[in-house]
Amino acid sequence: MSKCGSERKNIDIDSLNERVRKAGMKLTQQRTQMLKILLGHPDPISADEIFKKFDDKSDGMDLVTIYRILKKFEEAGLVSRLEFGDGVARFELALESGHHHHHVICRQCQRVEPIHICDLDPHIKMVETMGYKQVSHRLDFFGVCSRCQ
Ligand SMILES: [Zn+2]
Ligand SMILES: [Zn+2]
Repeated sequence: MSKCGSERKNIDIDSLNERVRKAGMKLTQQRTQMLKILLGHPDPISADEIFKKFDDKSDGMDLVTIYRILKKFEEAGLVSRLEFGDGVARFELALESGHHHHHVICRQCQRVEPIHICDLDPHIKMVETMGYKQVSHRLDFFGVCSRCQ
């Protein structure tokens, strides 16, 4: 499960739509638009920020609907939900299964950037020798980014 260090694969809206269909979800206008927003935003994004990016709110789009769709996407393995201890849940597109990465968060401006390396295999093996299976882990870094220094 720790296939780390792989680059962000090129994902396009077609392959995402395909994954929505495979998950047995209907491809509504709202869901497609949401995937486009997530796709155009490489860093994790909050539901509030997604809502601001919706240019057509006329078809009943509201924050509650956004959370509902995000939950569906999360259950289908399309998005990952991230929490960094500031009380704001952020979301990003989940890449192919098995891919996994970490994040660094700026303590000043709260920007979040992915880190595409993970050297925790020895630790994972150690936990496995304790008799655990399907071991996962979370690791977040915090610092002050170059813009905020
Ligand atoms: Zn910053
Ligand atoms: Zn890792």
